[in-house]
Amino acid sequence: MARIYLLLAAASVALAAPGWKAGFARVSIAPSGPLWMAGYSARTAASEGVDLDVQAKALVLEDSSGRRSLLITTDMLGFTRGLAQRVAARIAKDHGIPRERLMLNSSHTHSGPVIERMLGAAYDATDAQWADVDRYTEDLENRIVNVAARAMKSLQPVDLSFGRGTAGFARNRRVAYHPNGPVDHGVPVLAIRDARGKLLAAVFGYACHNTTLGGEFRKFHGDYAGVAQARLEQTHRGATAFFITGCGADSNPNPRGTLDHVNRYGAELAAAVDKVLAGATRPVRGPLRAAFEEVALVFDTPPTKAEFEARLQDKNKYVARHARNQLDRIAREGRLPTEYPYPVQVWRFGGDLTIVALGGEVVVDYALRLGAELGADNLWVAGYSNDVPGYIPSERILQEGGYEGAGAMIYYGPPGPFAPGVEMSIVKKVHELVRLTGR
Ligand SMILES: [Zn+2]
Repeated sequence: MARIYLLLAAASVALAAPGWKAGFARVSIAPSGPLWMAGYSARTAASEGVDLDVQAKALVLEDSSGRRSLLITTDMLGFTRGLAQRVAARIAKDHGIPRERLMLNSSHTHSGPVIERMLGAAYDATDAQWADVDRYTEDLENRIVNVAARAMKSLQPVDLSFGRGTAGFARNRRVAYHPNGPVDHGVPVLAIRDARGKLLAAVFGYACHNTTLGGEFRKFHGDYAGVAQARLEQTHRGATAFFITGCGADSNPNPRGTLDHVNRYGAELAAAVDKVLAGATRPVRGPLRAAFEEVALVFDTPPTKAEFEARLQDKNKYVARHARNQLDRIAREGRLPTEYPYPVQVWRFGGDLTIVALGGEVVVDYALRLGAELGADNLWVAGYSNDVPGYIPSERILQEGGYEGAGAMIYYGPPGPFAPGVEMSIVKKVHELVRLTGR
């Protein structure tokens, strides 16, 4: 009789505790000296110090089956495919974490470091300054790999829960097309607490360009997302706040431009997260199932070699630089790329939460459409995940054109805009991976 009672007691404990473990670590990614800053082509000089530390943070989640997944968030514009691949290979080797269980996200702060040659055509950096960027990128890779290793060593039992709040400062910025275009004001929050209910970490998101500060600002700063993380970490002593950028490619903070604005939006976002944490969050159970695949996004027919040669004389130096780069590529590789291997990832936490992590600067239409098709309640759609090859327009925005639909490609480097069909390719792949992780 006593044995049966003990077995029943053990079973009820197992039901109450979903069996998660989590570990956390952080590292500063602020460069030690001046470095070219990412995001604004108008900047004419390298950085002048740090205003708010920029960081990389690692969150390891272990579900009851013992499988580990790793989220890395960063106060930077985005990962390149090269850096993401190198980090993933080292983490797979060191910790046995497969690609689908590694999720990278960047806050898209425009007051962070340039890495590799990301948006290279947009910057007036000298050769010596590019050499600094190369050294920094190598150092950054090591810091990210090391922060993951430290998080692995701090695993402790936790409970996960999820809720969603709102913050209203994002405004659709394509006012030339729609004076009052669509936005996603949702603030998804994953709370990680110990057995006594103490907050250990909060992972939260928002779908808005992290561009409150303008190009004239030349100190490193995490922008509104950095302020929100710092404020939450002040309020909840010892806790780590992780920011995940949503589908905010066509939204800006409004109004914007000053440190006063950035502090106000950071405070508003932190307050929205706190409200969720103080209210009723729903338990999130495992197991965590993960899938990652690349889907080929096809580029539209590019200009001819002769057309690129003519553009070398263009008065717009960015158009001329883009043409130079395309011609160099043709000389080097014999042809231009016809498609981009676009990363799509799904993390499914039992039946309680699904995170869809899309690469690139994803416009809000994707979050709204996937919410309608998959059910918005348990869905979290992130953009700026894994790598950021450029803007990812919806079919609507591709047809409308403008910066997010076509113009930004000049800075990012592909031969030209995507061909029609980009939205359907991505949405189909998301559905496929959601089905795959639901089994
Ligand atoms: Zn952007």
